[in-house]
Amino acid sequence: MYDSSNVFAKIIRGEIPSKKVVENEYALSFYDVNPMCEKHVLVVPKGEYENILDFARRASAAEQAGFWDCFVKTADAIGVAGEFNVFANAGLSAPLFNQSVFHFHLHLLAGEKTAACFEIMKEMLCQK
Ligand code: AMP
Repeated sequence: MYDSSNVFAKIIRGEIPSKKVVENEYALSFYDVNPMCEKHVLVVPKGEYENILDFARRASAAEQAGFWDCFVKTADAIGVAGEFNVFANAGLSAPLFNQSVFHFHLHLLAGEKTAACFEIMKEMLCQK
């Protein structure tokens, strides 16, 4: 069950600030506050979807098109240059990394790893 008090819903509603990259009618992207790479951006739909499967199953064609348009424009805006990672976590007990914000988001990462990258990954794996 989607809970609209999550931090990304607050960013979408403009209740808390974010460093925005791209925004359209259906989606927006903004920098992750705890980056694992020099360029670490989160792409989120504006609609209320808990995870990637929920979004893929229930979002309208217009929402899905808007989301992917935002994704492409974000990749161009931050300059991923064909070398990047994309991931999405789902659930509190996912095999590798747990989801911590229950509003669907893609992580888009490019550029050099941050000094904190391995610490963050270790912390995420140690929660298992
Ligand atoms: P996940 O664990 O896949 O749900 O990822 C949630 C991500 O949201 C983490 O990488 C956090 O660093 C990031 N995050 C949490 N709060 C904020 C915020 N206010 N603005 C930007 N990123 C955030």
